[in-house]
Amino acid sequence: KILVVGSANTDMVIGVDKFPLPGQTLLGNNFLLNAGGKGANQAVAAARLGGHVAIIARLGNDLFGNQTIENFKKEGLNVDGVVLDNKLPSGVAQIVVDKSGENTIVVAGGANLALNTKQINKNADLINASEVVLLQLEIPLGSVLYVAKKATSLGKKVILNPAPARKLSNELYANIYAITPNETETRYLTGIKITGEESAQHAADFFHNKGVRVVIITLGAAGAFLSTPDFSGTLATTEVEAVDSTAAGDTFNGALASALSKGMGWVDAVSFANKAAALSVTKHGAQASIPFLKDIQG
Ligand code: ADP
Repeated sequence: KILVVGSANTDMVIGVDKFPLPGQTLLGNNFLLNAGGKGANQAVAAARLGGHVAIIARLGNDLFGNQTIENFKKEGLNVDGVVLDNKLPSGVAQIVVDKSGENTIVVAGGANLALNTKQINKNADLINASEVVLLQLEIPLGSVLYVAKKATSLGKKVILNPAPARKLSNELYANIYAITPNETETRYLTGIKITGEESAQHAADFFHNKGVRVVIITLGAAGAFLSTPDFSGTLATTEVEAVDSTAAGDTFNGALASALSKGMGWVDAVSFANKAAALSVTKHGAQASIPFLKDIQG
């Protein structure tokens, strides 16, 4: 079983010819309302790819919050740990995309920022019941640390996807089993720019020295660099025609958690995650692009 503790947002996307200037009102087109947020995306990916998944998330008691819960249920997630906050609105992201595909994004975290230790304590049984706990950084860092400590002390495998990148404490590093940064996040956290396997190993060693057992640096079309006590090297991904890399990282992390929860070893789990994430970049959208197990098995 997998537990995701993380964010859920509703993405509001509008297409424009050109970005508006301050004070300007434009007529846009193609309004889309999409389920998003890294926690939600990764939970949905893990479930679609065969995992038994519970999510601890915090939503507003509003239209978006209720819609998000319905979506979670439709995806087969255990929603016992989801709280509708009566004071704060659901997290939203306002996204404007221009003709060339460039975007500007404003996120209002809302209830995500109130996912607190009390809510986590109330759902301690969900931590107990899981083998893999998957975390990201769109909820308060104190809550991330709290879950990581509790889960690690119970012998659970904690995977941290450090996105969006934030400075992390040594205490947090000491309480995670695996970390899965992309190249940008790796550079932010370690100061090391990935230019090849040697620099990837240097970056991995930075995390190992802080107590992280397994390091996976995702490398976009180049796949992922995996460093464990018994393996180190780059695992290639499938060559695909990329149309939209939104949620590639989320698909990767959800797939990884699903594979590990079924007892797969790290090399096989990363290869599986590569396959799933490569498929996700062949489709537009976030959750809309996340594949199902049957898509991977062909
Ligand atoms: P993020 O999306 O978080 O920035 P990456 O760009 O590293 O992270 O992508 C995550 C994973 O998605 C990669 O490890 C790889 O498996 C897959 N992926 C991303 N871009 C491509 C691509 N162009 N072709 C094939 N796979 C890709």
